[in-house]
Amino acid sequence: MSEHEFQFVEPHLLGLYRELHALTVPADKVRAEPLGKAVKDMWQTGVPLLYCQPPSLDVHSFFALMQEVGAVLKKYHPERTGDVDRILAALPVDGAAREQAVRGILRRDGEWLESTVREHELSEELLGLVLSLTLRPFLRHFSAQTVAHLNLELWYRGYCPVCGGHPNFSRLSKAVGKRYLYCSLCETEWVFARIGCPFCRHAEEARVRYFTVDDDQRYRVYVCDKCRGYVKAIDESKAGQDEKIELFWEDVKTVHLDLLAMQEGYENKLAEIPDFGEEVKN
Ligand SMILES: [Zn+2]
Ligand SMILES: [Zn+2]
Repeated sequence: MSEHEFQFVEPHLLGLYRELHALTVPADKVRAEPLGKAVKDMWQTGVPLLYCQPPSLDVHSFFALMQEVGAVLKKYHPERTGDVDRILAALPVDGAAREQAVRGILRRDGEWLESTVREHELSEELLGLVLSLTLRPFLRHFSAQTVAHLNLELWYRGYCPVCGGHPNFSRLSKAVGKRYLYCSLCETEWVFARIGCPFCRHAEEARVRYFTVDDDQRYRVYVCDKCRGYVKAIDESKAGQDEKIELFWEDVKTVHLDLLAMQEGYENKLAEIPDFGEEVKN
């Protein structure tokens, strides 16, 4: 990766992304059960796999990683040290409470989050960030262990088939001419309509369009005038012949496009939890 590619990213921010991306756990700290027919049937109705059959996570590794995430955040945002420390101090210490917390966090259980925030007077936004960053390496293993057993061509929805997250990035495949959405939380890619909004599923071309920026035709920003959502894309046919495309870094490299989209009045919907059936989340 050359530094030139990251010309739009503040060095400070790039350092933060690099350190966060380097945080990981061994694959055997996540255990996905085999996917039976009942699980696959449920998944096909639109329930992300994480909610059909959550994996078992190694609870000790989970809390150890949360400490590491906290340390990186404090290093890059020293002004938030007190807030981060309060979050780390509020985490449960005994075994059963930890197991319960991890189960709640995995399912993005709003109640667990709210009561923790209230009880310890925490910043909800910061706690959400710490939890997402901690979950990420675990969910990546979960995705790697399970996607081969799912037919992702059948999914065709605007949220992640594995963890339910919203996409912020996508890839226009040179080989097959399809658009793949990318989940930055678990790194799953799945096929979706080339035109069409992943957030509100609007498909009218008049209201879902894309723009490019003059000096780099490789990237597109798809915007939806119905729900004001946007998703960035890389057009592989415009990328170099042997260029290795890693969507995680493409997303980081193109922060200027996020700013542009937001200036135009579009919203980053990454933090929103998609509506795939409230009943399964609780
Ligand atoms: Zn995902
Ligand atoms: Zn939309």
